[in-house]
Amino acid sequence: MGISETLSNPAPIGSQPDYETAIVGTGFGGLAMAIKLREDGQNSFVVIERGASVGGTWRDNQYPGAACDVPSHLYSFSFAPKADWSRVYPTQPELHAYLRKIADEHRLLPNIAFDSTLTGAAFDEARQLWRVEVSCNGVTRRFTARALVLANGSLAEPKLPDVAGVEKFAGKTFHSSRWDHHYDLAGKRVAVIGSGASAIQFVPEIADGVGHLDVYQRTPNWIIPRPDRPYSERLKALFAKLPMLRRVYRSFIYWAHEARVFGLVLNPQFMKLFQKIAQRHINRQVRDPALKRKVTPDYLIGCRRILISNDWYPAVSRANVDLVTEGIREIREHSIITTDGVERETDCIIFGTGFYATENPIGAVIHGRGNATLASEWSNGEEAYLGTLVKKFPNLFLIVGPNTGVGHTSMVFIIESQVAMIRRLLARLRRSGSGTLEVRAEVQDEFNRRLQAQLSRSVWSTGCKSWYQHRSGKITALWPGFTFSFRRRTQAVGERDYVLEKPVAIA
Ligand code: NAP
Repeated sequence: MGISETLSNPAPIGSQPDYETAIVGTGFGGLAMAIKLREDGQNSFVVIERGASVGGTWRDNQYPGAACDVPSHLYSFSFAPKADWSRVYPTQPELHAYLRKIADEHRLLPNIAFDSTLTGAAFDEARQLWRVEVSCNGVTRRFTARALVLANGSLAEPKLPDVAGVEKFAGKTFHSSRWDHHYDLAGKRVAVIGSGASAIQFVPEIADGVGHLDVYQRTPNWIIPRPDRPYSERLKALFAKLPMLRRVYRSFIYWAHEARVFGLVLNPQFMKLFQKIAQRHINRQVRDPALKRKVTPDYLIGCRRILISNDWYPAVSRANVDLVTEGIREIREHSIITTDGVERETDCIIFGTGFYATENPIGAVIHGRGNATLASEWSNGEEAYLGTLVKKFPNLFLIVGPNTGVGHTSMVFIIESQVAMIRRLLARLRRSGSGTLEVRAEVQDEFNRRLQAQLSRSVWSTGCKSWYQHRSGKITALWPGFTFSFRRRTQAVGERDYVLEKPVAIA
């Protein structure tokens, strides 16, 4: 039976689940999980994907200039190396193509339900399985699964600014991750709200073609130079011929990035060296003293994500670009008014305003024991055990869950660590013949107590506001340490950490 038929014909109560595993999302996390399940001979899985192709963030973010801040040879699967990355920092089209190729090579497409949005999932305590509801082109489908893996991504739900009158604007609007390539920006009066990692990539790309550009910056970011370059054909051929050389190069990148943890977590004072580099970058690229003041942050570098760019300062220095630092008071039909009363005519607003990173809306539709939702459990900030297991949510596994984010290196390393752990736990569940696997509440609580203590001594707690924090101020996005220590912790998870429950009798 094909996936769509199974979804529309849920198995009757009392029988085996329709699938052993349901995975949500086909970004790096969802694809890695599916590939590893297949490697284990576990073919009873479905992957729910709201888009029309695989790729997650690298499918959604198609804005001009979209690229990754982590070098390609590290920002890729250890089990799917690519010798011919075109340049140091991979671009969005290259990453999207890489993920599509991998999904194809591993024959994952028949297991993926495309255009299907997860609308609800509830743990059925009596049957020890997840009841999953999906909307596919307006049609609701239901099925059951023994385990649910959420790999929906933490930077996937676009956030729009809560500015008065935003709904009254009569011109064109779109979010950076939903770029409208059919809309011609040529000659238009464009407003970009936000100056984060996305905006600093697309603003330099569009600045030349628009009529006028107002960039609304609320908080400046520290920016360091971007040492990007294409790889020569000779080097690509060498990487293909000598896999060992490629592996050594990957390790070199890994350790060079990992060294940043000394400053981020162990002693924030080390970050001052980076701040000198960033300050010199401003001094070299910005001549106008007023602009220099506007772009210079007043917090220690690293407290918010460090950005890399060679063309942001030249872009905001252009004659047709204004960097507006007054707050936005109101948006009207054809203009934006700032707190100083200045009104700027605007044809198009591009929201570079980021994502629901710490309060992902999906939390409201995931119901665990006693019908609690992830959102209600997390009202004071998201918590999990190693970003993967959540108390009261048996047989639920998160990829890129709370406190797994890393600003200093590749998320793919964290994802592979989580996938290896989930794979082991699913095998344990199967082999033990148990019905559920659930993290012990006291293990999760103690883990988070220590985690928060460590975060309180890190650079992220030196007095800035960032999307790493829940609105309560608690840092729920980041892992405070080396990624190899995260991996070691995931490898050490054992029965003292979780409870296995006997299976219920199956009719
Ligand atoms: P972001 O870093 O969260 O930036 C959002 C921007 O919008 C910030 O400048 C923010 O100001 C501003 N903003 C939000 N609400 C506003 C409002 N009401 N009024 C004025 N300004 C407002 O989002 P992003 O740029 O999309 O990047 C998100 C994350 O995605 C990054 O940090 C990174 O992890 C990832 N990313 C990575 C890359 C890469 O690898 N190169 C590229 C893009 C994205 P405040 O700073 O004051 O809040």
